Amino acid sequence: MNEKLHCIGCGTEIQTENPQEPGYAPVSSLEKEDIICKRCFRLKNYNELQPVSLTDDDFLRILNGLGTQKGLIVKIVDIFDFNGSWLPGLHRFVGSNPVLLIANKVDLLPKSVNKNKVINWIKQEAKNLGLKPIDVLLVSAHKGSGMTEAMEAIEHYRRGEDVYVVGCTNVGKSTFINRIIKTATGTGDIITTSHFPGTTLDMIEIPLDDKKAIFDTPGIINHHQMAHYLDPSELKFIMPKKEIKPKTFQLNAGQTLFVGALARFDFIQGQRAAFTVHIANDLDIHRTKLEKADELYANHRGELLAPPSEKYIDQLPRLVRHEFSIKEAKTDIVFSGLGWITIQDTNCVIAAYAPEGVEVQVRPSLI
Ligand code: GDP
Repeated sequence: MNEKLHCIGCGTEIQTENPQEPGYAPVSSLEKEDIICKRCFRLKNYNELQPVSLTDDDFLRILNGLGTQKGLIVKIVDIFDFNGSWLPGLHRFVGSNPVLLIANKVDLLPKSVNKNKVINWIKQEAKNLGLKPIDVLLVSAHKGSGMTEAMEAIEHYRRGEDVYVVGCTNVGKSTFINRIIKTATGTGDIITTSHFPGTTLDMIEIPLDDKKAIFDTPGIINHHQMAHYLDPSELKFIMPKKEIKPKTFQLNAGQTLFVGALARFDFIQGQRAAFTVHIANDLDIHRTKLEKADELYANHRGELLAPPSEKYIDQLPRLVRHEFSIKEAKTDIVFSGLGWITIQDTNCVIAAYAPEGVEVQVRPSLI
């Protein structure tokens, strides 16, 4: 392309190489007089928001911009990948604006999970991470549950001001916004894009009835998400599609569980005990002896231990070991973006391994 072309919808420079990046348009569309990027095309014609990724600089500019606007910040996180989807540092940028924290994908949690415990855990975690949300809500944007309450809460807490929705990619922000768009506007033409100073991407503006609007900011890439270490074709194996069915293993000290090649759990010391694994139902769990685990991983990652499969295994960072001494019964070891293992009994020593960069955490069981 010699001459630079810009999308008539959002002003972003048009490119034809990468459908995931801002400004993508298929080559065939370049002959038209008014070129519109795929994202704006879908928004205009289907009222549907397409996720796009952002550079870190744009992310910082957006965050900086938020502090200078007045309004309610709605932060969306993935309940299944809480730490991986957190957006660290947001609290430093929001100024005095209130933050409503919405945890999405609640439909994936087993029915036995206690919702109040989940909310309390989120509040505690948010506090540890430096954020004091005005409220915490659980929703399933996909199934629609909790959405009415979420929209009422937004209306209540915005106190007549604008609303800015932020979240990192994959949390379900588009699904959430698309639901609001459908409920709020019915048909399309009212939605516009508006420019956020200094960013390459414009925000989607959904009008509210009092001249204020909900602004959807672009999804932000959080490099430490398990999802970014996998090829999109394999992501479907780790992202549960349905409610998780817990699987319980009775283990002796000296036994190891592998979750594909993505995670490892060693029971090092303690009485024979029960461990309940909460991960996507189709993922393979492989049980072996601790003394054989290193060798098994070295020789069989990508085949017996998969995903990732042989084709993608070399993209996966090495597994990093985290050792914990557990005193309380019913403790969860959480592998961000993959799931968690509940230790049902007291007094044991375990080691949890996750790809470098992916967090492993301990929390009181949610069940
Ligand atoms: P975005 O990148 O934050 O805009 O996320 P998307 O809306 O594109 O959603 C990312 C993935 O999460 C998609 O595969 C969605 O189908 C899925 N997803 C979104 N909301 C939910 C939800 O409430 N429950 C479940 N189980 N999956 C969801």
